[in-house]
Amino acid sequence: MVAEVSTVELDAGFRGRSIRPGEAGYDEARAVFNGMVDKRPSLIVQPSGSTDVVDAVNYARRAGLPVAVRCGGHSVAGKSATDGGVLIDLRSLKGVHVDPVSRTAQCNAGVLWGEFDRETQVFGLATPGGRMTTTGVGGFTLGGGYGWLSPVHGLTCDNLISADVVTADGRVVTASEDVNPDLFWGIRGGGGNFGVVTSYRFQLHPVGPLVRAGLLIYSADEGEQVVRAWRDYVEQAPEELVTGLGMLLGPPEPFVPEHLHGKPVIGIFVLYVGDPDDGEDLVRPLTELGDLQANLVEPMPYAAFQAMIDPFAPAGMLNYWRGTHLTGLEDGTVDAFVRSGRQVPSPLTQLILFRHGGAVSRVPDEAMAASHREAAYMSHPLALWQDPDDTARHLQWVNECTEAMEPYLTGGIYLNFEPGDDETKVRAGYSADKFARLVEIKDAWDPENLFRENLNIRPSGTAA
Ligand SMILES: Cc1cc2nc3c(=O)[nH]c(=O)nc-3n(C[C@H](O)[C@H](O)[C@H](O)COP(=O)(O)OP(=O)(O)OC[C@H]3O[C@@H](n4cnc5c(N)ncnc54)[C@H](O)[C@@H]3O)c2cc1C
Repeated sequence: MVAEVSTVELDAGFRGRSIRPGEAGYDEARAVFNGMVDKRPSLIVQPSGSTDVVDAVNYARRAGLPVAVRCGGHSVAGKSATDGGVLIDLRSLKGVHVDPVSRTAQCNAGVLWGEFDRETQVFGLATPGGRMTTTGVGGFTLGGGYGWLSPVHGLTCDNLISADVVTADGRVVTASEDVNPDLFWGIRGGGGNFGVVTSYRFQLHPVGPLVRAGLLIYSADEGEQVVRAWRDYVEQAPEELVTGLGMLLGPPEPFVPEHLHGKPVIGIFVLYVGDPDDGEDLVRPLTELGDLQANLVEPMPYAAFQAMIDPFAPAGMLNYWRGTHLTGLEDGTVDAFVRSGRQVPSPLTQLILFRHGGAVSRVPDEAMAASHREAAYMSHPLALWQDPDDTARHLQWVNECTEAMEPYLTGGIYLNFEPGDDETKVRAGYSADKFARLVEIKDAWDPENLFRENLNIRPSGTAA
């Protein structure tokens, strides 16, 4: 349903593009990654700078409309879309400036991770970012951000030095440890609840440009053995050896032996964060977990590794994902994981185990909103399919995967991977104390809940 737009107008000085229903570009601008989401804003604004964002926020507040904000559009919960509200489409705000001396990067709010990596890699620098090039810096960072570099350099939000934020009352403020520290605490894991971020400043680290990285493939017939051996090795390996293990149907690609095409396989993504030559001996045991079927681990550009998963998640498919933290990886957890993984229902669907810990767990939990740092692993079923008639089957599989892990879950979830937005779910993203603090920060910065088209932290004065 599209709301009636009142007589309120955008400020006459607005320099960006505004698109209303029926106008050219409307459908393209409102489309998001998850094909399950089909929402129709009453106005889409593509700003040319921070002041246009201020205009859009002021317009929405005066018109009594909620604000939705879009960067990469990857929110599986569909939170960069709105029915009837104002959509601020930040993709018009590009630009990354790298200072190689201080090893920092200033980045505007519409930048995607592939664009960010491209600029920082010129200097052999990087910060933990998305595992796909098309994920937005915005939602990823504000929701926490686990990248391949996280076990070594922390969550993406751990590397955020400061941000510029347009507030609900239309001001532009800076948030950092020294300036508006409560806002800074909230935006590092609390999502887009407190304002529209227009630029970010990140800490960078020496990475690449060449790294030893790639993919190993085993048959799922050896599932339990391979996953246990993987666990035993990675739990005592240096944290610079980063891995993620997924179960999927063998893609019909030349690098996959033909007898595994369409059959359940185990794929292990590997990145050694350091000199590629130094990583060779450390990677070798991962090639000896069973009867190895394909070995694509080699020295390659870090940016190429960051793009390796891109073909597995095309935009516009129907998506349903979960992200739940695990207490550990006991044999029972491994068995439950492998049983579910052998039932993967379709070619682009996967069940993934990410190993965390390392630098993520060394940041004190109370440092910022991002939570559940004690978890050593995350279970991450993600279903992608095309035919709406297949929806029930995929939802059932994802939910069964999570239920099978039930005895081994910490109770904490990673909101950036979660499909729903009810308050119980949002609370599970944080401890009770931290959720209470987030409500206090929301009361201070957005008491009317203008920014509610997100995984919402409701201000205490508003009704559910
Ligand atoms: C294919 C794919 C791969 C992924 N891989 C990973 C991964 O490796 N690690 C990981 O941790 N997560 C991953 N994710 C999850 C990802 O972190 C979240 O979906 C995240 O929200 C995406 O950010 P975005 O900017 O692309 O999304 P959007 O949908 O544009 O935004 C998501 C949320 O953030 C808000 N937001 C965005 N920018 C701003 C801003 N400037 N100011 C205020 N609010 C803003 C939006 O309003 C929305 O609520 C992946 C998701 C997909 C679809």
